[in-house]
Formats: sequence, structure tokens, C-alpha cells
Amino acid sequence: MLVVSKFGGSSLANATQFAKVKKIIDNDSLRKVVVVSAIGKEDKTDNKITDLLYLLSAHIRYGVDGSHLWKQIYNRYNKVKTDLGLSLDLEKEFIEIKNKLRQFYDESYLVSRGEYLSAKLMSEYLDYEFVDASKLFAFDYHGKIDINKTNANINYYIKPHHKVVVPGFYGINPDGSIKLFSRGGSDVTGALLAAGLKASKYENFTDVDGILMADPKIINSPKQIKELNYDELRELSYMGASVIHEDTLFPVIEDNIPIHILNTNNPFGIGTIICKKANDQEQVITGITGKKNYHSLTIVKAKQADKLAIICDALNIFKRYNIIVEHMPTSIDSFSIVFEECPSDKLFAIISEIKGLENVIDVSIDNDIALVAIVGRNMVTKPGISGKIFGILGEANINIKMIAQGALELTIVIGVSNDHFNQTIKELYENLVK
Ligand code: ASP
Repeated sequence: MLVVSKFGGSSLANATQFAKVKKIIDNDSLRKVVVVSAIGKEDKTDNKITDLLYLLSAHIRYGVDGSHLWKQIYNRYNKVKTDLGLSLDLEKEFIEIKNKLRQFYDESYLVSRGEYLSAKLMSEYLDYEFVDASKLFAFDYHGKIDINKTNANINYYIKPHHKVVVPGFYGINPDGSIKLFSRGGSDVTGALLAAGLKASKYENFTDVDGILMADPKIINSPKQIKELNYDELRELSYMGASVIHEDTLFPVIEDNIPIHILNTNNPFGIGTIICKKANDQEQVITGITGKKNYHSLTIVKAKQADKLAIICDALNIFKRYNIIVEHMPTSIDSFSIVFEECPSDKLFAIISEIKGLENVIDVSIDNDIALVAIVGRNMVTKPGISGKIFGILGEANINIKMIAQGALELTIVIGVSNDHFNQTIKELYENLVK
């Protein structure tokens, strides 16, 4: 039995944070596999090492002197090293990085060094073995993780009795070069390890106590979600809640490995459990979230025209421009396509093409749509939620532009104007949750 524990950048911001990580690891002998991000921000005014590395890379690319950035990055790691009394030869590490870049400039390699150096320091500090992510996470020629190869690597390099630290956020291309996951991808590293090693749990340590029921920038001290299922998390993340990297779930779902979100600064808090089947059947609403700046394109067709053909043609245009369609309310001679924020040149091109379709007699656009999602696995058993939502928003004088409920009854989505976004979330939270 083992647990994979991933620590984000703020959990590694300085020696004090490293010490908290060590205490957490020492507290449970099952915590044998540790994944680390690059050093993060100490406070709001500080910079993440990954951001500095991208900035440094831009300096190198454009031939601008970046020595101040090299120094800043080196100093951050060196301070952790000296404060903890570690012996890693950081100067040698930096010389090697610079030499490699001189031979061949590779942004992914440079940026990956943030995680690499964190892991080197952490492995010495915990006295755990360092296993490089480039030995484990194999990408294929399409830029996707080759799961069979990755699992074989994981099981070859990490044996059940091993205690290891692995850098997050990167793996290796078929040609041997470094490939980064997308930003925040150390979450995915941890999930792949948890699945590959059949861990009993995947712990994701961050700087908040768990996932909140609503955005604290909109709701004052929202309640914390104690438990939710994988699908609810996907709905919440998709509709705007920033929780963990969206690809984190795929590796763990199959083996039903629970993810436990925990706070490095409050490790005995209950956190939030994300699992296949959440138990609590009382809490009707799991979370409320949403995003602004959607568009709704309304297409009116000639009365005798084939609606299905026009819908297909219109959707094909969206497909060609790679714009995600969220909803599509229809009536007899018209339909609306609600879609995500889109650059204006693409928007104009889409409108012009749709206007040019045969039998389309009018096209109009509403650029003022915010979507608010009410997510809850228990809504399916409680009738009348949609009615309540209409009542609450009617009372608050908020005009509902559209409403959609998925077939699984996991989410109700309502469209309001951007100006009403915050108030809608507030009214719904106050009346449905509190
Ligand atoms: N350090 C990377 C980032 O800032 C990856 C991660 O932290 O997960 O995006």
C-alpha cells in the first residue's frame, strides 16, 4: 500500500514550507511517492519560478541579457538549500543547464528545470530517492501520454519498497527531448503515478483547505465541499472553478483512486475528497460556478427549409474554426448557438459564413452572456430545483436569457447578462445553499 502526495509551488516557496512538507511526509509511512512543482510564490508580490523561467527563455530567444533572471532563480533555490543545510551542488547544476542550452536551445528543457531542482532538493531533504520524470512519462508522436509505456516505466523504476521524489510537469518525447504538460501539470504527474502504482490515495497538497462551493471573490467565506464525485468535479472545473488540472482525473478514474485535496499549511484539516461515489445524500447543491463572455448566435431560417441541414452546416462551421459550442436552444424556425469567448476576427468570419448558408434569412448575435452552473449529484432526487432557481432570480429581478439541464441532471446552467453574473451567483448561493 502506498499514497502519492503532490505538493504545489506555494508548498515549496521557501525552507519553512519545505519543512512543513517533511513533517507531513514523516507523519505517514504510506507517503512513499512525492511529486513536487517548481518553487512558487512566497507572497502575492513574489514570482513563480516557472514564470521566471519562461521569461528567461524569452530573453534567450530574443538575444536580450537575462543574467539578472538566472541570478534570481539561482538565489531562490540556493536560499532553500542553505536554510535547510543541504549539500546539493547547485552551481554545478546551473552550469550543466547553461551548457546544454548553449549546445541546443530548448525552452521545454529550461522550464522543466524548475521542477527538477525542487525535486533534487526535496529528495536530499527527505532522504528519498530522486527519480527523474524523463525516465517515466513517455509521450507519443501526437503529444499524448503513452500510457502503456509510462506504466511500464513507472513499475520498472519505482518498486513497492522505494521511497521516491519525482519532479512534476514534464516527461519525454519519442526523440528523447523534454516535453512539458500544460500549466499546472504537476497535478497530472501525480495522477499518472497514483494510477501506475495502484496507490490507495492521491493526495494533492495546496494552499487552501479544500474546494469551495463558490468563488470566494464573489461569496464571502463560502462553505467547503467535503466530498464530491469525479463527474461533479469535471462539471465544476469545466464551468470555471479552478481546482486541479483538468487532466488529473483521467488516470485515476479507472482504478477508482480517491483524490484528497489538502492544505500544506493546515494538513490535519478534512480537505476535499474526490471519488467515484460521494456518500452524502443530504447536500443538494455541491457547487455554484460560471464564466462570463459567452456569445449567442441566433439563426432564423426560411419556413420551408430543412432545419437539420442548416444546423449541421452551422455546426460544421464552428468545428472548422475550433470553437466549442456549449448549448443550442431551438424553436421551429430558428435556433441559437451558445459558444465560448472567441476572438473577434473568428467571430466575424463565422457570422459571415453562416449568413452565406442557403435558406438562412437572418443572423443576430448577443455578446452579453454569462453562464452560471449549479452542480449537484443529489439534484436528481429532489424535484423543484429549477422552479426554485426561476423564483430566486425573478425575485431579484434578474432576467434569465436561457436555461439548460443536462440529461444526467447533474448540472443546471442558466444564461444571464455579464452584469448580472456576480449577483446571480450570490442570490443562488444565499437561497439554495445557506
Ligand atoms: N510549475 C508549473 C506551473 O507553474 C507546473 C505546476 O506547478 O504544476 O504551471
